[in-house]
Amino acid sequence: MTKPELTIADAIREVTVAMQKAIADGYRSRMIDADDLIEVLLAIADRLDPPVPDTTNQVVCPCPDCGMADADRLVWQNGEFVRCDACGTIYAPDA
Ligand SMILES: [Zn+2]
Repeated sequence: MTKPELTIADAIREVTVAMQKAIADGYRSRMIDADDLIEVLLAIADRLDPPVPDTTNQVVCPCPDCGMADADRLVWQNGEFVRCDACGTIYAPDA
């Protein structure tokens, strides 16, 4: 089992790398404000303690390829097959 300090350090490192990449790619300004700080702190908290996924919109037969189970991302085709909006796989949910 890893030490909790290492988990926290890794979470901070991962979020920092993501922030640096966003800045380098031009998605994020170098100017930091209160909203940025809140976003960063919440991102670290989410990595340490991921929010419980909302399972109310999950289907019984998720995409066999990528595991997508969100009903909004799985579109019925001709009432027989389902097309996964995430990866494009078309499958028969009953199979
Ligand atoms: Zn899929």
